[in-house]
Amino acid sequence: MAKQTGLSDQAVAGFGSVEAVLELVRARGGRATSSRRILLEVLFDATDHLSVEELAAAVQERAPDVHLSTVYRNLEDLQRLGVVVHSHLGHGPATYQLASLAHAHFICEECGRRFEASDDMFRGLARAAKARLGFSIDPHHFAILGRCAECEAAGGVGGGQR
Ligand SMILES: [Zn+2]
Ligand SMILES: [Zn+2]
Ligand SMILES: [Zn+2]
Repeated sequence: MAKQTGLSDQAVAGFGSVEAVLELVRARGGRATSSRRILLEVLFDATDHLSVEELAAAVQERAPDVHLSTVYRNLEDLQRLGVVVHSHLGHGPATYQLASLAHAHFICEECGRRFEASDDMFRGLARAAKARLGFSIDPHHFAILGRCAECEAAGGVGGGQR
């Protein structure tokens, strides 16, 4: 899977700081517990999308006394409060990130390469779905599968069909 860098720089631009997110949590009726603070620190420092297992490992590295079940519950609560979102990148486990960083993905079914896709790429689809079906698309939750340029050029399995 392609590694991404600089996500934490974007986090700073999006939600400002761990403190700012905890502020938002409080404003939305949630509690700013120390285990939530650590989880948010891990999300801010992450250079790639992390699964719940990876997040839990990173949290426990910083605070070994935080239980796995607490990490799970915090993730659910922070999602409910709208500051964390998850997305499914192909067949792997769901991955989590700060809501301010939510974006879409394209994944190559042949080599597994992952591309970050900006929202403007979905403008035409979003408009058509709304106009014809009254449907509002959410391109962030699931990745879109296909073939990357290199695999397309290599013409591997199933090449040239459709
Ligand atoms: Zn989901
Ligand atoms: Zn590929
Ligand atoms: Zn991504």
